[in-house]
Amino acid sequence: AKAQGKNRYVVYSEEFSDQAFHSFSLEQDLRVALDERQLVLHYQPQFDLETMSLVGTEALVRWNHPTRGLLAPGHFIEMAEETQLIIPLGWQVIELVCDQMKLWEQRGITPPQVAINISPQQLLQIDFVEKLNKLVDGRGVARTSIELEITELMIMQDPDLAMMQLHRLRESGYRIALDDFGTGYSSLDRLKYLPLDRLKIDQAFTRDIGKNPKDEAVILTIIALGRSLGIEVLAEGVETESQLRFLSDHACNSVQGYLLGRPIPAEELCIGV
Ligand code: C2E
Ligand code: CA
Ligand code: CA
Ligand code: CA
Repeated sequence: AKAQGKNRYVVYSEEFSDQAFHSFSLEQDLRVALDERQLVLHYQPQFDLETMSLVGTEALVRWNHPTRGLLAPGHFIEMAEETQLIIPLGWQVIELVCDQMKLWEQRGITPPQVAINISPQQLLQIDFVEKLNKLVDGRGVARTSIELEITELMIMQDPDLAMMQLHRLRESGYRIALDDFGTGYSSLDRLKYLPLDRLKIDQAFTRDIGKNPKDEAVILTIIALGRSLGIEVLAEGVETESQLRFLSDHACNSVQGYLLGRPIPAEELCIGV
């Protein structure tokens, strides 16, 4: 029993150090990646449900890792948040969006609205709004064409500061979307005080349309809530025609999902001249 216990200990400790080494090297790699500009953005189209026209895109970060290939954010965002690297990463994402918008403009294309995911840590930095305005204005990009996606997590972390930042952002001209709506626990009472342009229904609800009446009920409630508060509602993760029909039948405003378009490099987006 002793030997077995010892073996188990050895195995465990090897696994542990292996994992620690793995995440340490990924962290080092991310520092290099930020210096060497290895991050790239993919853009996922968003469509108006009434006209089915493209109304915007969401910028989603990918890491063009020199040996591991193209990494999805699931591999590194959490680590970036734990190590504070999310802040320089977040700024690079905003810079990349601005550069892309200028590129579209130079090619005679009216840039579509771009939604950017902002981590709570970055948004709660006291000088965030000032720095953002400076960057966006400096690059000659219209603030109104940028939508900032925040989550309920940010509001729960520091409700007063979050509220102040959101109001300052709204006054500065940006649009604000509440991402993953329905998965957090922020109070509905607080919602009416938030300066929001859009609610994004989490794909966890969209996925079960046609399967789970309770999820359908949640979706209908969010659509009704949006309408009564004067906030647009977008459903994420639309993968099937029947999900699309349900959302359209119930007057959801817009949709995003693999059925209509996956996140792709900007050059592959079909946007008119
Ligand atoms: P999110 O903001 O909720 O983004 C939606 C995720 O769902 C994206 O995954 C997108 O590719 C995926 N998706 C879109 N349509 C469908 C669909 O029809 N079915 C399914 N199953 N999935 C769909 P992705 O790109 O892997 O991003 C994952 C998360 O990483 C994002 O979730 C967001 O929280 C975070 N993230 C992405 N880019 C950034 C960024 O620039 N900054 C920060 N702070 N977080 C980011
Ligand atoms: Ca998002
Ligand atoms: Ca989301
Ligand atoms: Ca999410």
